Order: sequence, then C-alpha cells, then structure tokens
Amino acid sequence: MDSLEEIARLVRHCTDCPLSAGRTNAVPGEGSADAEIMFIGEGPGYQEDRQGRPFVGPAGQFLEELLASIGMTRQNVFIANMIKCRPPQNRDPSPSEMSACSKYLDRQIELIDPKIIVTLGRIALSRFFPGESITRVRGTLREKDGRFIYPIMHPAAALHRQDSRPVIIEDFKGIPAVLDQVRAKLLHSPVAANAPAQTPPAKQLSFFE
Ligand code: SF4
Repeated sequence: MDSLEEIARLVRHCTDCPLSAGRTNAVPGEGSADAEIMFIGEGPGYQEDRQGRPFVGPAGQFLEELLASIGMTRQNVFIANMIKCRPPQNRDPSPSEMSACSKYLDRQIELIDPKIIVTLGRIALSRFFPGESITRVRGTLREKDGRFIYPIMHPAAALHRQDSRPVIIEDFKGIPAVLDQVRAKLLHSPVAANAPAQTPPAKQLSFFE
C-alpha cells in the first residue's frame, strides 16, 4: 500500500472481516496527506456508512465546530477510524475485527506521518494504550513508539452527556499548544523528526510528566 488512494481503494473492496457483509460503504478516512494532526475515531456510524465519509453525522458536526474553534477545517487534518466498516447497531468493534482492519490504519499513519495523533474516545485510545482509562488521561500528551498521542473523549459523548461537552471543548483547545510543543521537540530531535515510526523503544508516559 503505497498511497492513501490505494489504501482507500483496498478498503472499499475489503472482505477481510464479517463487517463487510453489513456495510453500505466502507469509510477509509479523508483529509490532507500532509496533515500535522491525525484524528482517529472508533468506526463509522449510520451516516458515515451511508456516505462513505468519516464523521458526517451529529458527532461530525460537533467535530467541525471543534476544529473551527482552533482555526482549522477538515481539509487541514486527516480523519480516520479504527475500523473502516460499520458494526451492527454501532456496537464496539471486536478484537478480531480491529485486528483484521489495523493494517489499513497502520499504513495511513506511516504515510501521513502526523506530528500528533488525537485519539477520540476509549477505543482509539486502546490502540496505543490498552486498558488505559480515557477519563484519567484525556487532555494529556503522551508518547508511544515515537508517536505523540493526545487523547480526548469522543465527540459523540457530548451528544449523550451534556456534561462531557465542556470537557471536550477544553481539551480540544489544548491542541494548538500541544502541536507547538511537539514541533519544538521534533526540531531539536532530528532522529525523531525524520523517522518517528522507527524510533525505539516505546515510552509510556508524556515527556511533560
Ligand atoms: S472493517 Fe476493515 S477489515 Fe473488516 S471488512 Fe471493513 S475494511 Fe475490511
């Protein structure tokens, strides 16, 4: 998989897990190939499945508001999900489904090589920090395998729990400062700047801690 376009083509025809049987459209992800910020959500919902695009339902509208609050648009970032096809009744993806699908997200991350990855919700957080609590680590920058991870709650949480909304807004407003800090760190770390995917070993906690 040498390009984002090739990944998208393969995803749209993928039958590597049972979720392919129930989808209307696979949702490969979209945005800038040069994005400094990559958002990773959980998986497509009803609207995403119908349109084949990530975050186009109510949670997506909130995400666009959040992006606007930091002077950005969808076109400035890349938006992807852990899995590319909608699970029935929006249930959590199973470990085997996530395992089957991870090759696509892994390669998207490699190709885009974002400065920070913003994980949206506990499922995306678990890709980098299995078993970690989103309420414990949200809004704190962490480093894993040479990647900088900034976990926040999923925008959909604000649709179900109004008290989540100000928390998500607050964490989102921290993104520009986090990005500046990572840029500065990479500037002074040529190895990390040139080859973040290969920098060993995993460092579990934030460099700010
Ligand atoms: S969820 Fe992923 S692995 Fe499963 S069919 Fe869709 S693209 Fe393939």
